[in-house]
Amino acid sequence: MLREGISIGKAFGIPLRLHYSWFIVFVLITWSLAYNFVHAYPHWSLVNSIVAGVVTSLLLFGSVLAHELSHSIVAKAAGIPIQSINLFIFGGVSQLVEEPKQPQVEFRMALAGPLTSLVLGGIFLAIWYWLGNVPEFIKAICFWLGWMNIALAAFNLIPGFPLDGGRVLRSLLWWQSQDLRRATRIASNIGRGIGYLLIFIGIALIFFGNWINGLWLAFIGWFLGNAAASSYRQLALQDILRGHHVSELMIRDCPTVPPQVTIQQLVNDQILTFGRRCFPVVQNDLVLGLITIHDIKGASREQWSAKTAGEVMTPFANLKSVRPDEDLTTVLKILTERNINQLLVVEDGKIVGIIARDHLLSFISVRRELGT
Ligand SMILES: [Zn+2]
Repeated sequence: MLREGISIGKAFGIPLRLHYSWFIVFVLITWSLAYNFVHAYPHWSLVNSIVAGVVTSLLLFGSVLAHELSHSIVAKAAGIPIQSINLFIFGGVSQLVEEPKQPQVEFRMALAGPLTSLVLGGIFLAIWYWLGNVPEFIKAICFWLGWMNIALAAFNLIPGFPLDGGRVLRSLLWWQSQDLRRATRIASNIGRGIGYLLIFIGIALIFFGNWINGLWLAFIGWFLGNAAASSYRQLALQDILRGHHVSELMIRDCPTVPPQVTIQQLVNDQILTFGRRCFPVVQNDLVLGLITIHDIKGASREQWSAKTAGEVMTPFANLKSVRPDEDLTTVLKILTERNINQLLVVEDGKIVGIIARDHLLSFISVRRELGT
């Protein structure tokens, strides 16, 4: 879901993306801020309150961006490539290409965000408190931004993984025990525990009639609990896959097809007969692309006898490939990030096989069942 959204440019060489949910949140935040300004400053005109709401929302967005950028800048400085920063409903996520290899790096990276929010909050509150001669309009905006940044820092410092505070906790446990898996298990269990606690408090608030805050709290708790559970699952998966190579799982004898074969022929001769799902399209020993069940489903049934593999395939230039000696964790990452089902395995410019999501899944489930 985080890949959806629009690109809004780059900062420090890092692509920034805005998730669609952000627009809804922007309207909600602006509306609730304007509502607050109307009540806190009854002598303001309605337009004045709405403008203050919009300006505060935009600056809040800038603050969230600064928070995320600081994570990414520390990561980049430690040599971890950043794919993009995605801003969405609860703030942002920095998409790292890989996880930090040392606890010290994770510690610095995780702490950078909340520290930035705290400093920003301090600056806004200082302007509100000490600068006597600024207009009330600016003072009001600074007051809200100050507290919101501090709230952002406080929320992110909750010590439940995958929040920043949970990452700080994990890095400290990891540092001390040198056991990343155990550290992640403890930090994500705390994350789940805090998630349940927030849901419980939220439901209690709903019972006492404070249902807006109650719903929010329960929703945040649910979100946190889910994120904690799925981060741990992710790590457990990587644990199973790590150290195993593409060459162990790939299919080597993938049948190739010429570009002029029709889809109908392909379906009759290969897919229905042998149950194979994807085929490199090859002409004169040159790989032109890959055709999969997915590509075939993209064409309507009436076109099957007219369309050829060459017309429907995914061209080679748009395909991702891996080398046979690459780690299976890399394969999982690429498949998940790009939301695709198979990768070509290429060695010295030649296709030597295909590795698909199904292979990974059965590899994982067999090892899980055997408990190895
Ligand atoms: Zn953060």
